[in-house]
Amino acid sequence: MSIIRQQDFIDSIEDALQFISYYHPLDYVKAVEKAYHKEESQAAKDAMAQILINSRMSAEGRRPLCQDTGIVTCFVKVGMGVQWDKTDLTVQEMVDEGTRRAYLNPDNPLRASIVADPAGTRKNTRDNTPSVVHLDMVKGDKVEVMTAAKGGGSENKSKMVMLNPSDDIADWVVKTLPTMGAGWCPPGMLGIGIGGTAEKAAVLAKESLMDPVDIHELIERGPETTEEKLRVDIFNKVNALGIGAQGLGGLTTVVDVKVMSLPTHAASKPVAMIPNCAATRHAHFTLDGSGPANLKAPKLEDWPEVTWEVGADTRRVNLNTITKEDIQDWKVGETVLLSGKMLTGRDAAHKRIQTMLQNGEGLPDGVDLTNKFIYYVGPVDAVGDEVVGPAGPTTATRMDKFTDIMLEETGLIGMIGKAERGTATVESIAKHKSVYLMAVGGAAYLVSKAIKNAKVVAFEDLGMEAIYEFDVEDMPVTVAVDSTGANAHQTGPAIWKAKIEELDAALKA
Ligand code: SF4
Repeated sequence: MSIIRQQDFIDSIEDALQFISYYHPLDYVKAVEKAYHKEESQAAKDAMAQILINSRMSAEGRRPLCQDTGIVTCFVKVGMGVQWDKTDLTVQEMVDEGTRRAYLNPDNPLRASIVADPAGTRKNTRDNTPSVVHLDMVKGDKVEVMTAAKGGGSENKSKMVMLNPSDDIADWVVKTLPTMGAGWCPPGMLGIGIGGTAEKAAVLAKESLMDPVDIHELIERGPETTEEKLRVDIFNKVNALGIGAQGLGGLTTVVDVKVMSLPTHAASKPVAMIPNCAATRHAHFTLDGSGPANLKAPKLEDWPEVTWEVGADTRRVNLNTITKEDIQDWKVGETVLLSGKMLTGRDAAHKRIQTMLQNGEGLPDGVDLTNKFIYYVGPVDAVGDEVVGPAGPTTATRMDKFTDIMLEETGLIGMIGKAERGTATVESIAKHKSVYLMAVGGAAYLVSKAIKNAKVVAFEDLGMEAIYEFDVEDMPVTVAVDSTGANAHQTGPAIWKAKIEELDAALKA
């Protein structure tokens, strides 16, 4: 029997959550580096370069990899022989206390993203609690913890299906993945849970993502079990879709596929698929009664030396003087460097603006969107001499339902976010001769370095969802939808799917 101190458990959770906010698992870094060197699509290669540079900067600066610092998910396996030194807190309460401390850490505050009353008021709990805890009683006298901070963009793309027993799982994945768009910030991993019951399949899918990236070792030694064969099959088929980094088209969409399965009912084949994003974050530790966990920090030399330079002929734009006429010759896929003032806004701010416009109240004081760009972002709070904390783009698709009214009634000429826009929104962008620009999801710390000034101009009560004015310098973005409605998230994957088919055919010939 071992005696585990509650305080050691809480301290270890706190440390682990701080650790994963700025340290990518090195297996993920190495996998993206490999994909980066192999990539032939320039847009996808540029996106991976930014992800790798951001990863190193976060490790160096000990600041979050992504502005979405996630919902805390913990798998806790408590040995039957464990005794706690005190019994006043449940495991859920201990995880929540560690989460609270980690997210409110004054040296590296993390973004509190959890809202209570999700079907109603959706009020932010302000300390990122409660966390999601999966508790198992296992043999032994230790406590094993796997903790992750899962971004909303990738969690939102999770899928679940009850297949017929004879249905092919890889077929379902390959059919389903293109419907998930790019809001899960590829390149990442897919966790596939199979069997059990509907809810168990989803937990298996999530747990499978706690394993390190090792698909290339598996391919080298040859898959043996059903799960291993399925992993390789799905890995090859998904990458042949040509979706690529950030959905811009390319050779690597996933760096690994994980599969966990359990026996199930003879009539059922539950399958859940959960993607992990460019901000893959998880840590593992074991407590045996000898004190809190001691996570070993990686060395900066472990990160690849990747540089990313924009070409000398890259378009540089002054946002303070830009007009709608100026954006008409921007071409889809083009890199643009933005300097000057832009406004921010995401879900809650858009909803309020829509209500105000519909009530005839106009825009809030301090907000003039004439000839302006809006950046879909909810930044992390600043520390020290930072102007703003990590401030990468959030999924633009969620703002689709507000876009037409924004373009029609506010004078807005462009939007900046991540991932694809829906068909009706692309049509609205073309109708209003506007543009949609894409920043790299998962490169939030890097993006924040382009922001030279930040102030809240409206809806301060919304916290990270308030409207800020950012003054940026050379912020790199890609034209994802141009003023004619040409759409990089459609053309890129289609081109690269065809190219991959050609390459495969050439290899087989
Ligand atoms: S990388 Fe993308 S999906 Fe992941 S947490 Fe960041 S914004 Fe969300």
